[in-house]
Amino acid sequence: MSIMTPKITRFLTQNDPATPCLIVDLDSVEQQFSTMKHHFDGASIYYAIKANPAPAILKRLNALGAFFDVASLGEIQQCLAAGISAEKLSFGHTVKNTHALREAHKLGVSLFAFDCEEELHKIARYAPNSRVFCRLTVLNTGADWPLSDKFGTTTDHAYELMLQAEQLNLKATGLSFHVGSQQTSAEAYQQAIAQASTLFQRLQSQGLALDLLNIGGGLPSHYTRSVPDIDYFSTAINQALSEHFPHQRPRIMLEPGRALVGDAGVVRSEVVLTSRRGGAPTDPRWVYLDIGRFGGLAETEGEAIRYRFRTPHDDTSHSQSPCIIAGPTCDSVDVMYEKNRMTLPDELASGDKILILATGAYVSTYCSTGFNGFAPLNEYYI
Ligand SMILES: *Cc1c(COP(=O)(O)O)cnc(C)c1O
Repeated sequence: MSIMTPKITRFLTQNDPATPCLIVDLDSVEQQFSTMKHHFDGASIYYAIKANPAPAILKRLNALGAFFDVASLGEIQQCLAAGISAEKLSFGHTVKNTHALREAHKLGVSLFAFDCEEELHKIARYAPNSRVFCRLTVLNTGADWPLSDKFGTTTDHAYELMLQAEQLNLKATGLSFHVGSQQTSAEAYQQAIAQASTLFQRLQSQGLALDLLNIGGGLPSHYTRSVPDIDYFSTAINQALSEHFPHQRPRIMLEPGRALVGDAGVVRSEVVLTSRRGGAPTDPRWVYLDIGRFGGLAETEGEAIRYRFRTPHDDTSHSQSPCIIAGPTCDSVDVMYEKNRMTLPDELASGDKILILATGAYVSTYCSTGFNGFAPLNEYYI
């Protein structure tokens, strides 16, 4: 997995962009999309645009035949502005305000997620006759960034809701789940597919034939910890689909966010200060960067996502030691790695430019609008 592509290296050398900034190689995104298409043959790939809604990414993926998972009216508008047609959108958020529902329907969006009765009634009222899928709660074991606590319902409840959807003149079309983001185990998918298939069968016996299974996102990017490659996931997932849907496989939807764009991006940041406050050699070494929790690296919350750093002193001949990594703001929660420190070269000093790898997903839009006067990071899509 090469993350620092020659194109990004060349861009940095030629342009020496001011920090902090994010550079995304669109060819990497394209390559990753093709890899996914190849591994999940026959599945429709819905890019979860919250990972990075940059118009350049949306346009590139649209040209390649991608579909798109959106979560708000704003995201619908971003897609339409990028020239994507409303039929290619899935409104995958289970919690939608009525204004967004009404507008989505008016704009031609016809596929909606839900996980409870009230939302189902809202969809029936504000987006009548739409196709709907019910989100199941599934185990998120193995995910570094879990999602299941907040969304989804039980298979028993989903059974009732799907039958009710038909009575509300909606098209009860399928089921969805999300195994949690930065998922490192294929077992989570296998269990969820098994869980969904039992519900397909129960509804079939009631005369309701579903034809869509949305297996969500979750596939990992390459951060500090090594993760299995896409082969491992696709083999396990395809096997589970064949095992649990032996006669007819439903239409499969995949909603990658992180895995599609994460590895394609690199953040360039400047070291603002390194210090051993207290002065004693045993005092911890702090490294303050010009990007932190408020500058886009919000997924360092709880030290969940551990990014890979590249410094100008990575040569193994240099000594290294554990450092606490913090952002530039005055807020004391703006500390990224403290419990589990990052080992960095001792030579690192103010003014050094460092690279933070695999930052194409969940960085640019997590950036605050200017907390403490720090402007949002510049973005380059090349
Ligand atoms: C965020 C999200 C995704 C994308 O998840 P990744 O882990 O980034 O692949 C997919 N589907 C839904 C419904 C989401 O909320």
